[in-house]
Amino acid sequence: MTKHITIPKNFMTIFIVTFFMSNALAKTLLPPNDIADRFHNDSETIKIASSDFGHIVQEIPAAVFYPNSVDDIASLVKYAYNNSVPINVAARGQAHSTWGQSLARDGVVVNMTSLGNRLNGSGIIVSSDSSLGSYADVGGEQLWIDVLNTTLQYGLSPVSWVDYLYLTVGGTLSNAGISGQSFRFGPQISNVYELDVITGKGEFVTCSPKENSELYYAVLGGLGQFGIITRARIALEPAPKRVKWLRLFYSDFSAFTKDQENLISKNERRDNKALNYLEGMLLLNQGPQDLSFYPVSAYARINSLVTQYGIIYCLEAAKYYYDDRESRVEKLLDLLKGNLGFLPDFMFEKDVTYMEFLNRVRSSELFLRSKGQWEVPHPWLNLFVPESRILDFNSGVLKNIILKQKIPAGIVLIYPMNRNKWDDKMSVVIPDEDVFYVVSMLHSSGFNKWEAYDNQNKEILQFCDDAGIQVKPYLGHYATQEDWINHFGSKWESFRARKALFDPKMILSPGQRIFNNN
Ligand code: FAD
Repeated sequence: MTKHITIPKNFMTIFIVTFFMSNALAKTLLPPNDIADRFHNDSETIKIASSDFGHIVQEIPAAVFYPNSVDDIASLVKYAYNNSVPINVAARGQAHSTWGQSLARDGVVVNMTSLGNRLNGSGIIVSSDSSLGSYADVGGEQLWIDVLNTTLQYGLSPVSWVDYLYLTVGGTLSNAGISGQSFRFGPQISNVYELDVITGKGEFVTCSPKENSELYYAVLGGLGQFGIITRARIALEPAPKRVKWLRLFYSDFSAFTKDQENLISKNERRDNKALNYLEGMLLLNQGPQDLSFYPVSAYARINSLVTQYGIIYCLEAAKYYYDDRESRVEKLLDLLKGNLGFLPDFMFEKDVTYMEFLNRVRSSELFLRSKGQWEVPHPWLNLFVPESRILDFNSGVLKNIILKQKIPAGIVLIYPMNRNKWDDKMSVVIPDEDVFYVVSMLHSSGFNKWEAYDNQNKEILQFCDDAGIQVKPYLGHYATQEDWINHFGSKWESFRARKALFDPKMILSPGQRIFNNN
């Protein structure tokens, strides 16, 4: 059980945690009285906060901070900022990062979940007004699954999602938050009206495109570098009831991408004929497939198709509907299917509730947990690939590296997005083409086997570099600041200037290793 440090009531108002920097210089934490008892440093708490979903990077913090309120977080950051030697502070959502991004060596990790527990259900408030319509004010620590459950009670829902809903709002907004809805509604960061942020100086600031806009644009996709998000105002729309969910198989990559790109070209938010979701994935001839989506009667022919071609490309699409619109949606999908070039006998369809669709990854998580395969290393590689080079990426990476090397690739997602749904003023970096692809290589490995995947990841990046394919990593990590400067390209100067403005002592989210890469 987690052991908490007890502070004697009449203790001299000083709580002391001694910790060491890498240069072996002993330092002392002397936090103000009002937040002293929020720091925990028992071995179990420290152990949990030293690692993340990736199970690859380990960074040991000096303490973990359990805030009771937003004011507590502001006091912590103020204290860390004003300390004679500034103290690093990392907000930890669910630590679903894979390369140590939510860790803080020798610093303080803020357990955001603690805030949510204290709020006791009041962390998500649904409202509406004449200018914005419906929206939800959501704590940065809240999980997307809870946002969904709460907003559905009002018949409302956010429009842009992530595939897995047990991620925090602050965590995904610090990256972008992408899924099959992004082609039409933009990433999650494109659906935020307003934020409350605690900057690296400990100041509480409300920001939006109109008010303190520099901070608003910095924080969205800002990798936790400019402030801790404590509230986001998220756009809501009427929630659909059900979903027609399709998977269509292709053996020909050009036909697959041509159809994906045609489908995402219909992308107006208000266009009832546009799809609501489009993704894609690979079925690789590398051992057992996850066929749980398909009827058992189709397993044998799917397996033999995958054996025949080595790679099968699966286009995944969804159209939402209300109960009384089913026939209209079916007609629309029939029309769409008629124009697509998939293998005619390989079209699979499901009709599920909206919740079942959005929460579809949960059952896989529970299955993997039950087999002890969730808490394992995840040497993931997520890339944005320019559309003009996606055919080269297929032949050079998917076929020549991933398929040939025969280390089971796990889940590989591949689907296109529209650049005009992203706001260039935000910190996130994407390729400079109207359409670009996300390719997510979501590997799981044994504890002593992740290096094989990491080597493969490096080979993929090297191939892209040699071939002049200008990919941009998403959720990425780099060895040096030089690499980050290259990553940000023309955005680096403004990223750096914003850092100097909002976190001048460079204490926030050190696990991203952008400004403190040593
Ligand atoms: P953490 O990992 O805890 O934090 C991420 C970074 O943000 C850290 O640098 C942290 O310091 C900072 N941070 C955390 N909270 C705040 C805050 N309130 N304010 C400011 N900074 C903060 N991503 C997608 O875009 N789409 C997907 O479909 C998707 N699916 C995923 C599925 C799984 C199973 C997993 C494990 C991850 C997936 N991700 C996806 C990646 C996910 O978006 C990132 O892991 C992200 O970091 C969110 O995780 P988290 O909430 O646990 O944040």
